[in-house]
Amino acid sequence: MGKIQGQCLCGAIRYTAAAEPLLTAVCHCTHCQKQTGSAFSIVVAVPKGSLVFTAEEPAIYQDVGESGLPVRRRFCPKCGSPIVTEVAAMPTMDFIKAGTLDDTSWLEPQLNIWCDSAQPWVKLDASTPCVPGNPPAA
Ligand SMILES: [Zn+2]
Ligand SMILES: [Zn+2]
Repeated sequence: MGKIQGQCLCGAIRYTAAAEPLLTAVCHCTHCQKQTGSAFSIVVAVPKGSLVFTAEEPAIYQDVGESGLPVRRRFCPKCGSPIVTEVAAMPTMDFIKAGTLDDTSWLEPQLNIWCDSAQPWVKLDASTPCVPGNPPAA
């Protein structure tokens, strides 16, 4: 059983990926704050095309990133859980909202992104690198 499998709150959306995760990051961007209703989102990057939806297909909110390029935020139309984000500026990977994973015990964020918009009370771990915007191109 792979690490990457999970579902939304209501279970209408289920996903799996055979690939290993590429990166785990904490995103402090204002759009993630809005979408999650929280201070940040935890995202796990997987290779583009590796994610398979095994129940229903998530709905899409077409957002626009800082780059001016589209950001497709996919969510469950029944319960509203954000599931995955497809960022046109980063075409080789998709970003799963880590809170939707069935098993979150292995998560260990390696990077903080969009730290310029982090909420001031969020104490960032000094040992985890922080970048002001998107992660540097791999
Ligand atoms: Zn749902
Ligand atoms: Zn974000």
